[in-house]
Amino acid sequence: MTHVPKQSKIPSISTLTDHLWLPYTQMKTSPSPIMAKKTQGSHIYLEDGTRLIDGIASWWTACHGYNHPVILEAAQHQLTAMPHIMLGGIVHQPALQLSTELSALLGHDLNHVFFSDSGSVSVEVAMKMAFQYWLNKKQSRHHILSFKGGYHGDTLYTMSICDPEEGMHTLFKGIVPQQPILDLPVTAEQRKNFDVFLEQNHTSIAAIVVEPLVQGAGGMIFYSAETLHYLYKTAQKYALLLICDEVFTGFGRTGSMFAFQQAEIIPDIITLSKALTGGTMGLAATIARTPIYEAFLSDQPEHALMHGPTFMGNPLACACALASLSLFATQPRLEEVRNIGQQMQEHLSACTKLACVKNVRVMGAIGVVELYTIPDMAALKKELLSHFVWIRPFRNIVYITPAFTISSEDVAILCSSIYQTLQKLYS
Ligand SMILES: *Cc1c(COP(=O)(O)O)cnc(C)c1O
Repeated sequence: MTHVPKQSKIPSISTLTDHLWLPYTQMKTSPSPIMAKKTQGSHIYLEDGTRLIDGIASWWTACHGYNHPVILEAAQHQLTAMPHIMLGGIVHQPALQLSTELSALLGHDLNHVFFSDSGSVSVEVAMKMAFQYWLNKKQSRHHILSFKGGYHGDTLYTMSICDPEEGMHTLFKGIVPQQPILDLPVTAEQRKNFDVFLEQNHTSIAAIVVEPLVQGAGGMIFYSAETLHYLYKTAQKYALLLICDEVFTGFGRTGSMFAFQQAEIIPDIITLSKALTGGTMGLAATIARTPIYEAFLSDQPEHALMHGPTFMGNPLACACALASLSLFATQPRLEEVRNIGQQMQEHLSACTKLACVKNVRVMGAIGVVELYTIPDMAALKKELLSHFVWIRPFRNIVYITPAFTISSEDVAILCSSIYQTLQKLYS
C-alpha cells in the first residue's frame, strides 16, 4: 500500500483561472481551486505530486474507480473505430447494444431507451415525454409534480421541479415555471395532503417526478422503500405517470442496482446518467415503459418525440457504458457497496458524539454526516484537504460516496479525516 506523501501545502493556481468559469462558484471571492493532473483507482494526483483520496468519486460518477482498465480498453478500441457519429437515420452497435442491455437490466417493460448527454437533459426529455404522452392522447396537462428536497438538474425547466428553497426559484422568480412541489408523503398527514392534492389536481398533472430512496443534491435525504411504494400506489390511483430520476441513485449506489427495485414498483420513465459510463464520459438515458412509447406511434409525424441532442448516443460514451455494465456483471459490486456501507456505519458513527453533528446516516455506499450548521465552508474544505482527502461538503452536509472499488484503508482514512476535521473546527 502506498502512503500519503507528507506535503504540507496544497498548491493553488489562482492566475490560471482568468478564463475558466467554474460551477456554483463566486469567482470574485472563492479560494483558488486545486489542480488535478491524473487519476488512478480512488486517487487524484495533483500537479505537484500530492495524492488525494477521492471521497465522492467525481460527483458520484466513477463507481469502478478512475481509469479502470476494462473501460479504458473499450474506449480506446471505440476511439479508433468511430469516436462519434450522429444518431439521426443511422445507428451503430454500441447504442443498439447499450439500449438492449439497459432494458434487460431494468426489467419489466422498461424497453425504450432515449439517449442524451447529461442528467439534466435526461430529465428534460422525461418531462417532455410525459407532456407529449398526454398531448398525443388529446389531453393537455401542464404541470409536473415534484417534492421538497428534490434535485433534478440545472436547466431552466428542471429548476422548476427542484426544491423551492434550495433551488433557484427565488432568484429566477417569474422566469422558471410554477410547479406543485409537495412534501414527500412520509407521515400520515403528508400522505393525506398528497392524496387530497392529487384528488383535486390530477387532471392537470402530467407526471410525478421523484428521486427514489435518496434525495441527493438536495441534502442526501433518505426515505423508506415503503414511502416510495406508497407514492407509486397513489400515482397509480390517479393514473399519473411516475418518473424515477435515478441519475444519482442508479448503478448500485443505494445497495441495489437501481433504487426503485427496493420498493417493488415499476416507474413509467427512468432517467440515468452520473455513473452510466463509470465516470468516463458524459452520457444519459431516459427509459420509458412500452405503453408510454406506444403513445408516440402514429401515422401522424407530429406524434413523434421531438427531441435530438447532437451528441446523443455517442459511440465512445456508449462503449464506456457497456464496459461499465460488464464490470457490474462480472465483479462483486453490490457486495462491495455493502462492505463500504458497513465500514462507514462503524467509522462515521463516532461523529455522533460531536456536538456539531445532528445526524449520521448510511445507505448503500452513501455516508452522511449532517451538521447543525457549517459556519465557514471554505475553512471546512481547507481543513479536509489538509488530510489529503477530496470531500466536498455542501450546505450542512459532509458526505462520502466513494468508488465501489475503494480499499478499506482509504474508507477508514476518509471517515477519520471527517471526524478529526469536525472535532478540530467545531468542538
Ligand atoms: C446530478 C443530477 C441531475 C443532473 O445531472 P447533470 O448531469 O448534472 O445535468 C439530475 N438529477 C439528479 C437526481 C442528479 O443527482
